[in-house]
Amino acid sequence: MLLDVLQKYWGYSEFRTLQEEAMSCVFDARDSVVVLPTGGGKSLCYQAPAMCREGVAVVVSPLISLMKDQVDSLKTCGISAAFINSTQSVAEKRQVADDFRNGTLRLLYIAPERLVQPQTIEFLQQQTISFIAVDEAHCISEWGHDFRPEFRELARLRDSFPDISIHAFTATATEQVRQDIAEQLALRDPQILVGSFDRPNLVYRSERRDSILDQAREILDRHKNESGIIYCPSRREVDSISAELNANGYRTLPYHAGMTDGERRQNQEAFAEESIDTIVATVAFGMGIDKSNVRYVIHTGMPKSLENYQQESGRAGRDSLEAECVLFYSLSEFMRWKKNIEDGSDAGAEAAMRSLQAMVDYSTGVSCRHRSLVQYFGEDFKLDSCGACDVCLQELDEVEDALIVGQKILSSVVRQGERFGSEYTSLVLKGSRDKRVVANGHDGLSTWGILADESQSSIRDWIGQLVSQDFLVRVGEFGTLAVTPRGRELLRGNVTPKLLRAAETTTRQKKRSTKLTASWEGVDRELFDDLRILRHDLAAEASVPAYVVFTDETLRELSRFRPSTVETMIRIKGVGEKRLATYGEPFLDAIRKYCEQSGVEFDAWLDGADSVRGSATSRPRADASSVEPGSRSVKPRAFDLFREGTPLEAVQAETDRAMSTIVGYLSEFIQLEGLTDPTPWIDETSFDRIRLATREAGTERLKPIYEVFEGEISYDTIRIALACLKNEEALSE
Ligand code: ADP
Ligand code: ZN
Repeated sequence: MLLDVLQKYWGYSEFRTLQEEAMSCVFDARDSVVVLPTGGGKSLCYQAPAMCREGVAVVVSPLISLMKDQVDSLKTCGISAAFINSTQSVAEKRQVADDFRNGTLRLLYIAPERLVQPQTIEFLQQQTISFIAVDEAHCISEWGHDFRPEFRELARLRDSFPDISIHAFTATATEQVRQDIAEQLALRDPQILVGSFDRPNLVYRSERRDSILDQAREILDRHKNESGIIYCPSRREVDSISAELNANGYRTLPYHAGMTDGERRQNQEAFAEESIDTIVATVAFGMGIDKSNVRYVIHTGMPKSLENYQQESGRAGRDSLEAECVLFYSLSEFMRWKKNIEDGSDAGAEAAMRSLQAMVDYSTGVSCRHRSLVQYFGEDFKLDSCGACDVCLQELDEVEDALIVGQKILSSVVRQGERFGSEYTSLVLKGSRDKRVVANGHDGLSTWGILADESQSSIRDWIGQLVSQDFLVRVGEFGTLAVTPRGRELLRGNVTPKLLRAAETTTRQKKRSTKLTASWEGVDRELFDDLRILRHDLAAEASVPAYVVFTDETLRELSRFRPSTVETMIRIKGVGEKRLATYGEPFLDAIRKYCEQSGVEFDAWLDGADSVRGSATSRPRADASSVEPGSRSVKPRAFDLFREGTPLEAVQAETDRAMSTIVGYLSEFIQLEGLTDPTPWIDETSFDRIRLATREAGTERLKPIYEVFEGEISYDTIRIALACLKNEEALSE
């Protein structure tokens, strides 16, 4: 029943982890606390059951902008939902009240402070309430990072609605917060469901901040036409980075607390509708954004805690597709936060310092970043390598004589009497005449200047790395360094540390996470771009965020399977009945037009793979692990054949796939192998002619080139030629 609802309204054919359990609680009216990471699909856990149970579901949500987005999104799915808040006119409120009384609403969103008012409670009591869902429930807890006093009032809900089940949802992991939520809401024997906090679809990278504009541009260039956020530590930097990027042809807008409400809203909307690609912001840009297809989150400075970093970077990839989180850290940032903590009279200074230190350890660390993050939040990490962070992708250079470097650092720590922190230690090793060093007589130590050839920031990084590998510990409030028993082993030469050198950004090779590129497999990128633009236009017209029209995943599926009819389109993940009725036509038109013009075929899942899939009418599924069943075994075979220079027809005969699929594989193969010579597959004359044509038409799009030859050269040939020409370009850059 729940699955039917998921299919009908959302076009989803399966549950995500713990969704079924969470929905069952709501369905069975058993109180619950559900902890799932951002993007885990919490909203569906109450939205889907709301369609199955009698009455109206009341949803408590802290932010007005989130309420609006959720309600817009539900309406697009064909679900009757509404919110009541202070932004509405009297007439709008009356309309909602009427809909509520008439029983036509399935979900009603209300802010906590309004919900607990006596007149609201009286109003709600006029109708059957199916259940109450509390979103962002950690706001009720003082232990959480987002405590909101108005949430405390929710403690009264239980008395006002004694027979109605209450369901709390949060992404905050700590046990203490969880308990607090259950107690504050007076939950009765709640089912507590806690998901994993790892976000396997995010690629984490951490680099030392250098020439930040170039560093940021390098990332943006990897994500052409994709949405992302750049977080900056100050308003001034927001303005300058945004302006400079725009001057260089990127499409960005700034967002910070120094702007008027109107400006901020406008820029946020432009981002949501995808009129721009990148929002450059301070952390003021936060909770209110509910954009599922953020493909990269860049931090140009270090946040003050790992909790903050997890939150902010977590805004990437909520749709479960691959996304990238890059942190640029610097020593000055650390000093600034440290000073803030020291200057503040906060009782929580020690905890704040610990969080900051964890942040530094993460930034400079050399172990898997997925592991570091989940372990910090108290979870085990089972994989040896995540395949999705700069460490596991081996993008960082190892220091060759790590044992000797490690020994030099540790012996300096010992000689300094284990009474100084990492900054000071790095000064000594660097050979600084800093007045503290001189006053302590440490310029006379044998370790003074022993690493003079290295930069101070490298030395600091290595100290951090030695801490994270348990050769050193930081002690006390000031993070004084001391050598551990394992460190003594290192001094004796019995164990070797792993030390990494942050490579220059410009030379650093970014490895593609193969685990994650699978989600693009078989996707026609040009069609994807066309559909993305269509989505933008439709979203802007309806004043809704782009993902409300279709998610990125759905766009990719549409560009992969290219349905030609309503009947085939409904099988695409993310296309429910209502969305099909609203958006089916324009998207089918665009797909038709594209396929006809580019000679790409429709209904791609029908080709060849039937025997594997059982029946041609089965629904295509496109999560990374189940792309085109059957293609897994065929693609490597095709690649082998390409490697031997086998002609296309022979590859097709051997693999039993449509020619367009084979050509798609070949382009991918050419790209992966960096080939520049296409002559095993196309004739040399055509290649030369196409090369000439690209001088005018560029290598990005097929159609302009196709038109130059007026159909004389096929799309397949052009596609193969362009793949090689792009490699040529990359070589000459
Ligand atoms: P959270 O509130 O936990 O951060 P959301 O509820 O916003 O996550 O869901 C994140 C995205 O995942 C949304 O685009 C949502 O539609 C999608 N989603 C949720 N459940 C499923 C599912 N079972 N199958 C496919 N997509 C899903
Ligand atoms: Zn890793």
